This record gives sequence, C-alpha cells and structure tokens, in this order.
Amino acid sequence: MNLLNQNPLTPIKITTKKGIIIFFLLWQVVNSQNIRCRLCKETIKNQYISVDKSKYHKKCYKDHVQPKCEICKKPIEGVYNIEGDKKYHKICYEDFILPKCEVCIQPIKTTYIIDKWDNKYHKSHKNKLPNCESCNRIICKRITNGGYNIGKERSICSLCEPFLVDKKKLVNKYAKEVKKELHKVGFKNLPKNIPITLVSSRKKLKKLSKIRHINLSGYTHYEYETLNGNITKEDYHIYILSNLHEIEFKSVLAHEFLHVYLFQNKYKLSPEYREGFCNLGSQLIYENDNSKYSNLKIDAMYENPDPVYGLGFKKMNYVLKQNGWAGLLRDFSKFQF
Ligand SMILES: [Zn+2]
Ligand SMILES: [Zn+2]
Ligand SMILES: [Zn+2]
Ligand SMILES: [Zn+2]
Ligand SMILES: [Zn+2]
Repeated sequence: MNLLNQNPLTPIKITTKKGIIIFFLLWQVVNSQNIRCRLCKETIKNQYISVDKSKYHKKCYKDHVQPKCEICKKPIEGVYNIEGDKKYHKICYEDFILPKCEVCIQPIKTTYIIDKWDNKYHKSHKNKLPNCESCNRIICKRITNGGYNIGKERSICSLCEPFLVDKKKLVNKYAKEVKKELHKVGFKNLPKNIPITLVSSRKKLKKLSKIRHINLSGYTHYEYETLNGNITKEDYHIYILSNLHEIEFKSVLAHEFLHVYLFQNKYKLSPEYREGFCNLGSQLIYENDNSKYSNLKIDAMYENPDPVYGLGFKKMNYVLKQNGWAGLLRDFSKFQF
C-alpha cells in the first residue's frame, strides 16, 4: 500500500525535511567560508552584519561599531545628522542642537534673524509681524507678550507699553530731569516754563512743524517780537509725540531743548550742524541712562544714514568727543554760517 495515498499530511512532511536539508547545506557553506568578525576577529557562526564589505557579529556591531547619538547615546539606524565628528539622530539633532525660533519655537533649519536683543527667529516671520517702534523687537506672544497699536501706523510691544508718556504729569516730571541733565553739562540758562504739548500722531506733528521728516517725534516752535531791531518778546513751545517710551521721550525733549538753546543764543547753523548738535542732547540722555535699550538707541543714531540727522550728528559728536561740552559750547560760533 502506498503511504502517500493513505495520509494527506505526508507531502507536507516531505517538504519540511527538504527545508531542513537546505538550511543545513547553507549553514555548511557559511561555516566553510570561515567568516570572521572585523572587530573581535572571531569566526561568525550565524547571523552577521555587513557594512562597507566588513562583517561583524551582530552584538559586536551594535556595541562597538554602530554610530551612537551624542544626545541620547542610543544607536543610530538610517539617516542621521553629523556636526563636526559628532553624530545625532535626526530628531535629537532638531530637538537639542538646532537653534529654536523664538517666535514659533520650531527648530531653525535655514536662514534666521538674530535681532539686537539676541532673539533668534525664522526670517519668514519678519514680514508678517510688526516691530515695536520703541525697542524694535518683533511683536509676538513669546518675545514681547504681544503688543498694541497706537493709531494706524504705530505698533508698540507690551514690554515698552508701561513706560509710555501719555500724561501731562509725566511730561513735567521728565522735563525736570532732562533740564537737570543738560544743566550739568553746561546748559545753565534755558528759559523756564516752556510749554510742552503732547501731540497724538506724527501726521499732526508734521502739519504743525511743516518739517517733512519721516520719524519726526518732536518740534520746537519759536516766535519773537522786535522793536527797533531789538527782541522784546520771545515765545517757545515744544511739541512732542505722545506715547513715546519715557527714555525716548526724554531724549526727544533734550533735542528740542537744544533747539531752544540755539534760538536763545541766536546761533544760525546749517541743518546738518543744527540737527547734529541737537542730537547730542538725545545722546546725552541715552548715555546717562546706559541701559541696553539706550545703548541700542545710540547705535541706531550712529547707523542713521540721513545726511542731516545721522551724518550731522556724527560730525558734531566728533567735536564733542574731542573738546567736551565746555569746549564745544565755548567755540560754538565757528559752526555758524
Ligand atoms: Zn565579533
Ligand atoms: Zn538620539
Ligand atoms: Zn519661527
Ligand atoms: Zn518695545
Ligand atoms: Zn531738531
């Protein structure tokens, strides 16, 4: 009797036997080739890992050869990041090595901006978010805790907002401080009780002053009456943009007080010398304050490309640094027409 016909399971048994035989043959082949592990130099008897033509015991490779991530110390399989001679999992690299954007906290993989406050952020945020007109930080939740609009054209961040000068009371307080600081460097006879008015927008300030300067923040009006060629009555009125940061307010006021000084002494200067000189007052306030905010404001004054407000300032400042305030004011007539 044929067994195959009696038991339907038999053919499967035969196949299994064949499988075992094939496996045995393969093992023999591997064994006879006498593969050695590149690391421990011992023969490899079963599975091995082959990298760049070198073969390793699985364990030898995992423990000693496979690249490890510098961050999590675990082996790296597949794609990884290299920085110097250090290797990282892609995800570890992004999470721990790449700088994070301070606007959206995502890793920064391409170009980014570092502002003067050392905030790093994706370049792409720059055109979508406003900058604070006072401190120039990008206004967003994480860096400035948001911000405010003043009118249609002005944006101010929440860090600067508590310092805005918007009340008469503050104006008088800061006017006193500015006069004191100017007095110390030699401006001893500035007129008393000059009215100072806060103006709600740059547009209004421009209208008042008829000055076409883009970032106009202050203006000094001067009027006098004469009789037989002698001045009999003088009137000053200072106008300053409302909602300036207190330090900036003081610096603008110092600038305007120096205009008063020039009127008072009948000094007639070119626009370049005139505005450059008045900007020395602004710089004085920032120098005395000596905060990061103020130092950045001074940097901006030096970087200002405007031929009058920027270059004029640099010229007058050169004279100031050479001669000091006393020397500058003593020889002032040489700057006149
Ligand atoms: Zn080995
Ligand atoms: Zn890792
Ligand atoms: Zn971002
Ligand atoms: Zn700000
Ligand atoms: Zn001016």
